Amino acid sequence: MTSLDRLFLARAYELAARGRGNTSPNPIVGAVFVRDGAVSGEGYPHTAGEAHAEIEALRSAGDVTGATLYVSLEPCAHDGRTGSCARALAPLRLARVVIGTLDPNPLTHGNGATMLHEAGIDGEIADDDEARRLIEPFAVAIERKRPYVALKMAISLDGFAAASPGERTQLTGDAWSAYVRDLRAAHDAVMVGAGTVRVDDPLLTVRPPRHRLHPYARIVVAGARPLPPASRVLAPVPGYDPTIVLSSGGAAGLDLEAALRGLYERGIRSILCEGGPALATALIERGLVDRFYWAIAPVLLGPEGVPALAPGSSARHGRELRFDTVERFGDDVMLSGKFA
Ligand SMILES: [Zn+2]
Repeated sequence: MTSLDRLFLARAYELAARGRGNTSPNPIVGAVFVRDGAVSGEGYPHTAGEAHAEIEALRSAGDVTGATLYVSLEPCAHDGRTGSCARALAPLRLARVVIGTLDPNPLTHGNGATMLHEAGIDGEIADDDEARRLIEPFAVAIERKRPYVALKMAISLDGFAAASPGERTQLTGDAWSAYVRDLRAAHDAVMVGAGTVRVDDPLLTVRPPRHRLHPYARIVVAGARPLPPASRVLAPVPGYDPTIVLSSGGAAGLDLEAALRGLYERGIRSILCEGGPALATALIERGLVDRFYWAIAPVLLGPEGVPALAPGSSARHGRELRFDTVERFGDDVMLSGKFA
């Protein structure tokens, strides 16, 4: 791959990211056609069921004879809501296809690239971190048959989520709040525990609204105790389905794995969990957290503080994490990464 290849592939990644929050249950994808050294067409799907990135880009490119296609994800080999992209591309006499990463969907994985190769098109697979990161939620959901779960927490420098039990504590600033708003919209659903509903009484809606195939879902993990009936999250909100309340109904507690599989069957492919500590701990203990976004505020909350993770839990022992992103948001710092 040349440095020019890297540049056009980066453009495909940029386009893919624009579809974030809109394409579920499909992955986000970006495509760029380059002919005679210049971009001749670009595309990404705006919603699920619309033309795929490659086809969208083809419409603006016109004649692509001898062109190179840069695409963030392997062109699909199977027919879904739209026809197979690899089959549509095969007869176009492209010179080359540069693919960000192979499609984890077993219906396509490698088959799309093979179809293009058999049509006489040179192919290259970058298989880089950025391409894989773009489809991280899609890859986890398709592999595990449960929604991808990202855990977002905000804590003080001394490791507490709140100043004292039951006290609403705003630790982080506006820049982090804006980031979380975008993070919510990038997932299919938001999820909190009952404690967060009791203390913060959130609405759990998203801004701006997206063109989704399924309405954005709001989920509360309620445990055995009923939620306060006046909770804002239980009231109807135009444009949203009623909040999904997961309750255990028994002394053994909620089977989180089974609950997540049930959400997957309802079409939910990714969830942003916004705590609190009890739910976060339960998810980590069961190995159900695929990515964490941990914001640290320059605040000390002192001895009455509520620990960000339940004390004494097995979530604390020997689980190794890998940070891949460190970012500042105003006065706050975010660490993001995955379990090793
Ligand atoms: Zn496709």
